Formats: sequence, C-alpha cells, structure tokens
Amino acid sequence: MSGPGPRQEGGLTVGRVSGVPVTVGWSWLAAAAVMVLAFGPRLASELGRGAGYAMAAAYGVVLLLSVFVHELAHAVVGNRKGHRSEQIVLTFLGGHTRIAGPRGRRPRNADLLMIALAGPCANIVLAAAAWLGMLALARGPETLLLSPSGTWAAQLLWAVLWANLLLGAFNLLPGVPLDGGQLVESAVWAATGRRRRGTAAAAWAGIVIGLGLVSFAVVLFLRRVDLAVAVGTALTGAFIAYAAYRQLQRVPLLAYLDSWDVFERLRPVAGVIAADAPVPAGLDRLLAVEDGGRMIGYLDPRGASGPLVSDSMLLVGAVLERDAEVADVLDAFRDEDVWAVGVVERGRCVGVLTREDLNIEARDLTERAELDTDEKDA
Ligand SMILES: [Zn+2]
Repeated sequence: MSGPGPRQEGGLTVGRVSGVPVTVGWSWLAAAAVMVLAFGPRLASELGRGAGYAMAAAYGVVLLLSVFVHELAHAVVGNRKGHRSEQIVLTFLGGHTRIAGPRGRRPRNADLLMIALAGPCANIVLAAAAWLGMLALARGPETLLLSPSGTWAAQLLWAVLWANLLLGAFNLLPGVPLDGGQLVESAVWAATGRRRRGTAAAAWAGIVIGLGLVSFAVVLFLRRVDLAVAVGTALTGAFIAYAAYRQLQRVPLLAYLDSWDVFERLRPVAGVIAADAPVPAGLDRLLAVEDGGRMIGYLDPRGASGPLVSDSMLLVGAVLERDAEVADVLDAFRDEDVWAVGVVERGRCVGVLTREDLNIEARDLTERAELDTDEKDA
C-alpha cells in the first residue's frame, strides 16, 4: 500500500539492520560524556589517567550496545510475527523501537507478549554470557560480581554483565511503558477478552511503579544516600508515571474505536470482473475489479464512461481482511490520495469502504490514538 513514510526521530542514523534504520539519539552523546565524568576519576586512580578514562568511555559504549541488542531483539521478533519495525532509536538509558502492527489483521496477544519479552530476554542471555566469560578469566572466586578487577577484558565483561542485568530486570517491572507492562496487558486481555481492559490495567500498574520509584527517591534523599542516585530514581519514576498516565488517557478513545463498526458502512460488491473486460450492460450494483487474482479497484456500472472496465474503474488504495481492526482501516486511509479500500473475506472480494462513507479524518484519529505504532521502550 502507498502511504506516507513513517515518522523518523532525530539523531545520528548509523546504519540499517535488516532494513530498519538505527539512530543514536543526541541525548546519548550528552549522557556518554556524563558517564565518562562519573566513572573516569575512580577508574583513572586504578588504571592510570588515560586508561581509566578510556575504560569509562568503554562503559558508555557497552551500555549503548546492550540497549541496541535489547531493541534489535524487539525488532527481529516483531518482523518475524508480521509486525513492521520502522526505527530503532538508542538514547542513554532508554532506547526504543517503533513497531507498527501487522497490516490488515488484528495483532495477536501472544505475539505482542513475545515481542515485548524478547528485549529483556536478550539482555539476560548477554549477562549470562558475560558471567561465563568472567568465570573463565577469574583466577579465584574473589569479588567476581561486585567490583571489576583484573584485566581489561575482565573489566569490560563486568560492565556487560551489570548493564544487561539492570536493563533486563528493570524492563521486566510489570507496568507501562516498560516491557513487563505487556505481561499485565496480555494477562488481563486474555482473562477479559478485551484488549483495552489490559491496556488500562497495565497503565495503572505503570503509575503505581512510577510513583513508587519517586517515593523511594525521597527516602534515598532523606537518608542522604547519594544525591545523584536519588535524582536519577526520581526522574525515572516521574517519566514512567507520566508515560503510563498518557496511556491511560488513550483508553476512552480505544473504547470508542472498539465499539465503532466500520464494516457497517461496507458497500457490497455483486461479483468480480477483469480490468480489460467490457462494462456489462444492465447491471446496477458494484463489481470488484481483479487483476491476477488481486483486487485492484471497483466499478459502478451505472457511472461507466467508456466501453471497458479499465476506463471507469476506481482504484482501491489497499485491500484489508473483513476482520481488520478499526486502526488498520484508519491506517489504510492515511494517504489522502486513497479514496477507497477493498475488503476481502477468505480470499473473496466482499466490498469496498470509501473515505466518504466513513466520514472521518483518518489521520487525526490515528495520530490522537497513536494506534498504528507500538513503542517498545528499553
Ligand atoms: Zn524493551
């Protein structure tokens, strides 16, 4: 289907993996500098000035690559499940992958769950690999996990282990916008049969987690533990609570769209005709026009302006299944040039939906609902 290209976020696009652009957000570059300043002095006292700062920079790169593996896992599993991965963005502690739903059919609960869990699972596998590497390098059981020691390789493996353990565990917290939020959404969706109930439950869980982190930050601050940790925890909690609140605000619109039977407006077709066939006489019902077994348009024989079907047919911008989600129908009309969409059921053309009949500004609705794209936050 033709349509406007996906929105791309700013940053430095460093390459493509299976066609998916990978962008390093500007925030990462700024945060990497902060990381070098935070870890540099301590590492410099252990390893010497140059080597210490180089290792601190390497920690930043390790974190970036760990986030990348996490996002790549979302993107790869998404593509395997028929979703469309549009962009991987790497920011400092939170990269995200833009994944649009499958075209012309409802996203399946189990698929969404697997796409969400792929990210944290990839981090846990990487952490386990780093730990095995550390075991192989270690000469004794000394402080293997809690502090980096020994060779450069051991120091780097230590960074890989902790970056991935923290990324994996943190993202499994069960609330939106974290990957663990999908666990809640999927469970409630499966139990109630309604996705938006799951969406609401996962959003409330996210609000509780976010406010919990903010409260924890206040305790850290009052106990004078570490100001930087307290501020970081508070900001993270506030971000989670806000993202979850935004998700909760979508629920009424989801309910409205849920109850909107777009196919009520379907104009049925009486049959199928080839594009190069002559216009049949005496027929006053719509016909689907097929080419090579695919629906490409429709014909209203009453308004025919020439002897052949191809002279008078109207093109369809996309062909959808009869059980497609409202979001997919709106998505199909996003390109303003699309006047009509064909509808098939079990491979048979059953009708057309037109822009006029639906009487909607498809673009506004999809953008308000952000229904077409799932963001997986790292
Ligand atoms: Zn994730």
